[in-house]
Amino acid sequence: MKKVIRDNYRVEITPDPWRSGLSHDQMRGLLADLEKAVRRHVDGIGDMVQRWDTREECSHCGIRWEELNAAEAADGSFDQDEHSVEGEPVCCYAAINEFRSERGIPALAEDGGQ
Ligand SMILES: [Zn+2]
Repeated sequence: MKKVIRDNYRVEITPDPWRSGLSHDQMRGLLADLEKAVRRHVDGIGDMVQRWDTREECSHCGIRWEELNAAEAADGSFDQDEHSVEGEPVCCYAAINEFRSERGIPALAEDGGQ
């Protein structure tokens, strides 16, 4: 029979949403300030840990960052052209050509109008 166990009780504190434009270091400083304020005013705290979500996205198009893996690079059906290699981004021509430029790989024949 399935039994439900409840544990790891905790309270999460989220900073004001209007502060979301701050840099990562500024946000970590804000979290440290919040932690100090909570410790100063609240009893019964066992531990406080700073947490945040991380995602990778393309600086050119803003789409979630994805790259060709080894199998995809070896399978010609995923390639942009014969110069595609493992690690090449898949989102946009600007990212592909930037990747290739950094590695001395010939650019795409066409830039897709970008
Ligand atoms: Zn992109």
